Amino acid sequence: MYRIGMGYDSHRFVEGRPLVLGGVRIDHPLGLGGHSDGDAVLHAVTDAVLGAIGADDIGQLFPDNDPKYAGADSAQFVRRAVALAGEKGYRAANCDVTVIAEAPRLAEHKAAMRQTLAALLDLPSDAVAVKAKTNETMGAIGRGEGIAVMAVVMLTQAS
Ligand code: MG
Repeated sequence: MYRIGMGYDSHRFVEGRPLVLGGVRIDHPLGLGGHSDGDAVLHAVTDAVLGAIGADDIGQLFPDNDPKYAGADSAQFVRRAVALAGEKGYRAANCDVTVIAEAPRLAEHKAAMRQTLAALLDLPSDAVAVKAKTNETMGAIGRGEGIAVMAVVMLTQAS
């Protein structure tokens, strides 16, 4: 009756791109690299949904050498994963996300990210959590070279 999936993603900071996380544009001097808009939150959530239904991962379903996805709004990946889950008779029950970044500070953006995720997953906002952590200056993420995201999504059988 329940399925659970986890997703992980990381993207390197690059110059000359807007920073988009959880569908929210955040004012920051650096954006995230990648073929699409680089939204590591939405990529991790997509993989969590796909993982819960035993589907191929985001890289297989939306190849990063496909020009169709260049600069793409990553919300479409979540929507597609949710649709695939729906075809198998499942809908989201809750979603829990941890963003690991030294900068920017995400506290003031978490509510907007929750709203976006809740809308994409068709959930009430209290069934979505977004937590922000630093990596205590350790390693590549700790040096501010990029952002990493972990996500867990629970699916339940749609009635
Ligand atoms: Mg990604």
